[in-house]
Amino acid sequence: AEARARALGDAAVTTTDGTAIAVQANCGSAADAATAQAAGADGCGLLRTEFLFLDRATAPDRAEQRCAYAAVMSALPGKPVTIRLLDVGGDKPAPYLDLPAEENPALGLRGVRVSLARPDVLDAQLTAILSLPDLAHARIMVPMVASADELAAVRAALTRLAPGTHIQLGAMIETPAAAIGADLIARHADFLSIGSNDLAQYTLAADRGNASVAAMLDGLHPAVLRLIAETCTRAGSTPVSVCGGLAADPLAAPILIGLGVRTLSVPPGRIAATKALVTAHALFALRTHAQQALALASAAEVRALARRFAEENA
Ligand code: PEP
Ligand code: MG
Repeated sequence: AEARARALGDAAVTTTDGTAIAVQANCGSAADAATAQAAGADGCGLLRTEFLFLDRATAPDRAEQRCAYAAVMSALPGKPVTIRLLDVGGDKPAPYLDLPAEENPALGLRGVRVSLARPDVLDAQLTAILSLPDLAHARIMVPMVASADELAAVRAALTRLAPGTHIQLGAMIETPAAAIGADLIARHADFLSIGSNDLAQYTLAADRGNASVAAMLDGLHPAVLRLIAETCTRAGSTPVSVCGGLAADPLAAPILIGLGVRTLSVPPGRIAATKALVTAHALFALRTHAQQALALASAAEVRALARRFAEENA
């Protein structure tokens, strides 16, 4: 598989029966984007813009943001770069934003809720993105969406700031509400991207930062898989990707493709192995495999099934 992965290099990959699967990179810096480019990534499926905002005394201004995003884009020339709007709050504090202390931060003011509560922060970030030299390849992704009107509010801000400019806008599906309401969100979205880390946390009611419940927190839990299936069905013709940790899990990626996911966004170091995995399977076999997983009762059972599937198809 290593050699096959190296041989694939920059090439777009398909399943053995010809379904194209994009393998993109999760990036937290321009250095990550350069690593992703060297590994043959089909663009960046998640740029965590928090890297610019954390561990400092004041917010980065438009010019600093523009410069940082442009550096990521020029590391991946001509490829799509998905810039996620600021995802602070909860466990990612940004003291200069003066957000209220919260008793239950995971359920508090975080992700898009911060952006909508602080139009100054949202406008600065959107303006920085709208001024990028290669806007045709930039996409904006909104974190922690629970309701369609949150995405509509970001679209309205874009229209206000740059009337007549169309930029691809997508929502992260990382709350159960977003998965169940994916059809409503898709009306306002050019793409959907499942954040499986948070989707598992909120579905299983298990804090992703709490070691005592870590064993319960497996994105291959059938309840999480059913929400992913629901998202793909409800999305209709709107493309669905996965950018959480599940996309990079070799036992999970075949199931995700079988459920309808057509883009996997993984850490730069997992690009080659993920491309190799895609080319090893036929879509019809992945569909059957995914349907079997949906009928199981626990994450352990799904992992056992996925291990058998990997061995039989090795
Ligand atoms: C996720 O929740 O799966 C995700 C990709 O976002 P983050 O890990 O940055 O919360
Ligand atoms: Mg998340």
